[in-house]
Amino acid sequence: MFEFDILARDPTTRARAGVFHTPHGEILTPVFAPVGTQATIKSLTPAQVTETGASLVLANTYHLYLRPGDELIRDLGGLHRFMQWPGPILTDSGGFQVFSLADSRKVDADGVTFRSHVDGSTHRFTPEKAVAIQENLGADIIMAFDECAEPHDRRYNEEALARTHAWAVRCQGAHTRNDQALFGIVQGGVFADLRQESAGFIGRQGFPGNAIGGLSVGETKEQMHSMLEVVDRALPEDKPRYLMGVGTPEDLVHAVQRGVDIFDCVLPTRLARNHAVLTRQGRLNLRNAQFARDGRPVEPGCACYCCANFTRAYVRHLIVADEILAASLLSIHNIYLLVSLTREMHQAILDGTFAGRA
Ligand SMILES: [Zn+2]
Repeated sequence: MFEFDILARDPTTRARAGVFHTPHGEILTPVFAPVGTQATIKSLTPAQVTETGASLVLANTYHLYLRPGDELIRDLGGLHRFMQWPGPILTDSGGFQVFSLADSRKVDADGVTFRSHVDGSTHRFTPEKAVAIQENLGADIIMAFDECAEPHDRRYNEEALARTHAWAVRCQGAHTRNDQALFGIVQGGVFADLRQESAGFIGRQGFPGNAIGGLSVGETKEQMHSMLEVVDRALPEDKPRYLMGVGTPEDLVHAVQRGVDIFDCVLPTRLARNHAVLTRQGRLNLRNAQFARDGRPVEPGCACYCCANFTRAYVRHLIVADEILAASLLSIHNIYLLVSLTREMHQAILDGTFAGRA
């Protein structure tokens, strides 16, 4: 369980193709996971998510703890049964949301006290609490509780890193379910020495996988790439690496070239609700009048359910008429694109044709 088999490596970059084994199925890597914040990929049924080719989905601990409650989900059979997703699920630790969403928060060495953005009530997360919630939810991959600092603030990153490392060890001590893989998280902002120290520390703890947090939060692409290169050199080779919250097509390719295996992002579904389409040639906004009589599919050549059946003109009509099917169709296309891109990279690495992409 939770073995990671590296099937092939690209000879000219750091890219690898692998398989990560979980209790709910194998995950072929590189892999893109759509985000189901509230235990649903917004506007899609699980059958539709499956049809996009997605193998792994993410759900948010912070949101599900506040509503409907992790104990309720446990009592109703756990997250897989509750949301009717039969494949692998990953839950985040709640750290990112506590530090970015909660109305007010107070950090100390032991944990974080915060007020719910839903009803203003006061709550406290500690490493032990974050693990207990995730054990109640029951995902296959769960995350250590970390502190995501503003990426350019050196002093704050030093303090947050010390807490993140101490909390990672406490999460390991609190983790009891052997049918869940607990991943550690590397932090350190845009500072190479902090990233190296963090990757070294987290890598030595023996987690079955390691995540890279605190990127795609306001730094430049060059900074992201150089941080990935530092972390790549310091993390264990034989464990999967998960780049949290990153999901443009270009970012996926650049990160795979730098040794990353797993991705998640709200981008495909969030863009879809704003009528925007990811394509291999860039983004389109289908609300624009130029698509009113456009009889082509959303992305010519795409084999997704949306592109195989509908025209740009029809989807634009749905958008203008404020029909919710527009969000569903565009979510299907956007997720299909990112899942296909990672699946094609997996195959290209196996075939020895990955070099030269991007
Ligand atoms: Zn499509």
